[in-house]
Amino acid sequence: MTKVYINGKLLDKEQATISVYDHGLLYGDGVFEGIRVYDGKVFRLKEHIDRLYESGRAIRLELPMTRADLTAAVKATVAANNLGDGYVRLVVTRGSGYLGLDPRKTSDPQVIIIADTITLYPREMYEQGLKLITASTIRNHPQALSARIKSLNYLNNILAKIEGTDAGCVEALMLNHKGEVAECTGDNIFIVQKGVLKTPSVDAGILEGITRNAVIGLAREAGVMVLETTLIRHDLYIADECFLTGTAAEVIPVVSLDGRPIGEGKPGPITRDLLARFQKLTRGETA
Ligand code: PMP
Repeated sequence: MTKVYINGKLLDKEQATISVYDHGLLYGDGVFEGIRVYDGKVFRLKEHIDRLYESGRAIRLELPMTRADLTAAVKATVAANNLGDGYVRLVVTRGSGYLGLDPRKTSDPQVIIIADTITLYPREMYEQGLKLITASTIRNHPQALSARIKSLNYLNNILAKIEGTDAGCVEALMLNHKGEVAECTGDNIFIVQKGVLKTPSVDAGILEGITRNAVIGLAREAGVMVLETTLIRHDLYIADECFLTGTAAEVIPVVSLDGRPIGEGKPGPITRDLLARFQKLTRGETA
């Protein structure tokens, strides 16, 4: 039976419930992290814990636990579920209040940790690559809500995701308010142009992905030049290679955008090399 952590207790999945007055449910008021477990070890846990606290700070939600206690709770939940390879969802809600927005009238932020498995995309897509379309829904304007906050409100991305699935694509490209390439609905995006790896900078209004940062490190180690720079769709149309990164997605090749093949229309050599290096890193770093 899957055990779910809520506020210090490990409960059976069916017993793991929170109030319907929780502002996490009523308003999407809360923050979260998605984290991978490889061979029973949690990948880049410190980075995820740091980002969760930053998200909390940004929405003025004080997390009710120390980083050390939260880190220990994640590890304990993984152990309680005998998870070898899996996925952890760490959620902190604003807590229950009344039917009004004011977070000062809430109490008891809920700390929830689910340790389970995840398969985001079919296996064969990692070999063959996936197709993207550009969504007409743009990424949230950074002055409305910073994309750097991993909040419980994903409607912006969900609307873009629906556009993707309507078009038969498992992911969709999102532009920012300036019309530049930002990211996909749940993944960061990279291209290779003449041997140089390029990805939008954090200023483009994106989530600063932990997988993104790991892949930038791997590329530099491999001697590939990496540029965090402004990209427009033209850059993607003329790119030699393209791929996405994310905790759940890991590294996945992209072979077309808006019906136009990228490069040769199949996963390129730098993409395949980085995918292999990433797989090695997730095994090596956690072994
Ligand atoms: N962008 C968005 C919008 C995301 O939700 C995610 C996480 N699913 C990412 C990028 C990738 O971030 P990470 O590598 O930290 O999972």
